[in-house]
Amino acid sequence: MSTSENRGNRLFIVVPCYKEQEVLPETSRRLKEKMTTLMESGKIAKDSHVLFVNDGSSDNTWEIISKLHEEDPLFWGISLSRNRGHQNALLAGLMTAKEYADMTVSMDADLQDDMDAIDAMVDKYAEGNDIVYGVRSSRATDSFFKRFTAESYYKFIRKMGADVVYNHADFRLMSRRALEGLAEFKEVNLFLRGIVPQIGYPSAIVTYERHERFAGESKYPLSKMLALAFEGITSFSVKPIRFVYRTGAAIAIIAVICLLWCLIAKLTGHSVSGWSTLMGSIWLLGGIQLFCIGIIGEYIGKIYMESKHRPRYIIQEFLGEKPETLPDKPGDSD
Ligand code: UDP
Ligand code: MG
Repeated sequence: MSTSENRGNRLFIVVPCYKEQEVLPETSRRLKEKMTTLMESGKIAKDSHVLFVNDGSSDNTWEIISKLHEEDPLFWGISLSRNRGHQNALLAGLMTAKEYADMTVSMDADLQDDMDAIDAMVDKYAEGNDIVYGVRSSRATDSFFKRFTAESYYKFIRKMGADVVYNHADFRLMSRRALEGLAEFKEVNLFLRGIVPQIGYPSAIVTYERHERFAGESKYPLSKMLALAFEGITSFSVKPIRFVYRTGAAIAIIAVICLLWCLIAKLTGHSVSGWSTLMGSIWLLGGIQLFCIGIIGEYIGKIYMESKHRPRYIIQEFLGEKPETLPDKPGDSD
């Protein structure tokens, strides 16, 4: 149906920013450079843009974005009504860009994602791919701890049944129809890395070296990382619930065997006061029960959040052009 020839090449680079005042001047300078060379080589349309998403920053991030927009129409911006977290900010940016772009590339503000990989992504799009995943070639710049936890996490989450691309974060190109597909996923518990592969369409991979953060500090402390990791598992898999049920069944069987054993011991007169075994099993069973209830509770919590259908983000300000398809509001004149 849609072939690579009749697809446009208007690119929007979507950059979520939370308290990124230290890096934005450099990031915007390099983005300008990249966009200019891409435009000059004819790979992307002249009316391509960079869309910054201010995720409720309390520092000067939005002032910097507004100034960039004033000075250069290349830069667009949206500002969310408050901090909603990286995944929601990214979604807000992608859904806004969807109205204008033929393709989007999402990347972090801190220059950790290698901008030179965008060329290869755009080429893969031109070859007919709808989604191009940026995959890290190595984790040499990460600490041993981050590398170890991240890699075990990818393995674990895939075992749990979520179809994520190994070593891919949120640096990716998406075509307009892939974004339209994404818009159909209404979940509030957002884990884009797990949703995007479910959209389908032809996809490809581009590898890149991930750099150190250019300036400022990570907005993903261990606690947020763990929360995202947990989100990834419980949003895409019911395996933990099955695990709960299987553990329960296994323990029930063991309990029956234990009972039989106690009975035989009593009948043969070998019954001894087994205080430690008793205490041990009480603690163990109590722990397992709490753990299992916790997992089930987590899923119930998710159902609760989803059932409210709350908005995932609210856009407070928009700096860019209105889409041509939207009629002017009555009373608007210039
Ligand atoms: N970010 C965001 N909202 C948040 C936290 C982070 O929009 O609540 C953005 C941040 O500005 C950056 C990207 O998400 O562009 C990735 O964050 P960061 O670099 O701090 O995470 P790390 O690379 O350390 O995992
Ligand atoms: Mg970073």
